[in-house]
Amino acid sequence: MFSVQLRFPDATIFQFPSFTVHRQPQLASKSSLVSLSSSSSWRRATASDAHNETSESLERRWDSLGFNPVKTDYVYVMKSSEDGSFSNGSLRHYGNIALIPSAAVLNYGQGIIEGLKAYRKQNGSIILFRPEENALRMQVGAERMCMPAPTIEQFLEAVTTTVLANERWVPPSDKGSLHIRPLLFGNGPVLSVTPAPEFTFLIYVTPVGNYFEGGWKPINLVVENVIHRATPGGVGGIKAIGNYAGIMKAQTEAKANGFSDVLYLDSVHNRYLEEVSTANVFVVKDNTICTPALRGTILPGITRKSIIEIAQSQGFKVEERLVSVEELFDADEAFCTGNAVCVMPVDSITLMERRENHKESYDFRAAQSSYCRVDYGESRFVVSQQLYSALTNTQMGLTEDKMGWTRVLLI
Ligand SMILES: *Cc1c(COP(=O)(O)O)cnc(C)c1O
Repeated sequence: MFSVQLRFPDATIFQFPSFTVHRQPQLASKSSLVSLSSSSSWRRATASDAHNETSESLERRWDSLGFNPVKTDYVYVMKSSEDGSFSNGSLRHYGNIALIPSAAVLNYGQGIIEGLKAYRKQNGSIILFRPEENALRMQVGAERMCMPAPTIEQFLEAVTTTVLANERWVPPSDKGSLHIRPLLFGNGPVLSVTPAPEFTFLIYVTPVGNYFEGGWKPINLVVENVIHRATPGGVGGIKAIGNYAGIMKAQTEAKANGFSDVLYLDSVHNRYLEEVSTANVFVVKDNTICTPALRGTILPGITRKSIIEIAQSQGFKVEERLVSVEELFDADEAFCTGNAVCVMPVDSITLMERRENHKESYDFRAAQSSYCRVDYGESRFVVSQQLYSALTNTQMGLTEDKMGWTRVLLI
């Protein structure tokens, strides 16, 4: 039906009654143009578009994928109405968005993000992993930030539509995955600190490489004892956009000192583990796996939740509770979870001397010296490896999905 190099599966578009696909011959020039009509229309990329790629250059690109944003073909945009409901979502060309200077998101950070992945199966079909969990989490976050949110159905339809429209950007199964980034933000104007009068739900996607290309790369963490990621009563438990700029300082310093990332402690006692910058943390001891309980300051990761269920099904005892920094010294293994890293083994964790302003800081066995470090490398990451395999095999459709977690998109 369409003659451009994009393989555009028209059948999928017809899945959604709110969209229809038709050609607009009057727009057709060198390549065919397609309009997806709802409230606004979009057109098929033409050869003159700056980001247009040949299949050949795409093939080369798969081998150099990292974790940087790539300009793909389409984004999905849906605006709220006065009553707080969202309607008339549509695909647009990937490109800049216009914002009024007084937009609530720019001035007061009224915005949240989501993050999930689409995987390509070996047979070419595309899989989403528990996307309804992301939809739900967006609703919880929106409520905390005084924003209306799309319904679960709208969220799922929007994700599916965006992935299928950018289908050529989903890497082959062994090369990576398509990162899906839904945003919800107040675009309406405000001057005083009040919720915006209008909100935008936007999804963009970008291909990302396999994190473990070339084997395991266990990370080295440093425990941060001055900067905190979240406070009780704050917004650490949701994906508020403001949560991330605040930790860049700790992360940048850690990286400058040769660490991969930072492990945060609770802000009240400065003693209990919270999480890594964008991943949850687990500690393994014998047949028990513990992870900090969700008490409002830790992001409820969908990977975290999935790993807890997988570990239990494999006979591990899983404890969600306070996990003190001292426990790191008795542990056999530690690992992090998140949709970007899946399951990431921890090679070492370093604790620096507690600093002046935290008198009641943790008390660990090497507190006398200026730093101490625990290495897990010896353990060979047996449990991390086992859980990683179980999770990724399900996510990539390599094993039967007994949990009912995956959704296959028809292409
Ligand atoms: C997104 C995120 C996670 C991981 O959540 P997943 O749903 O597993 O991807 C963990 N911590 C923080 C702070 C996050 O933003």
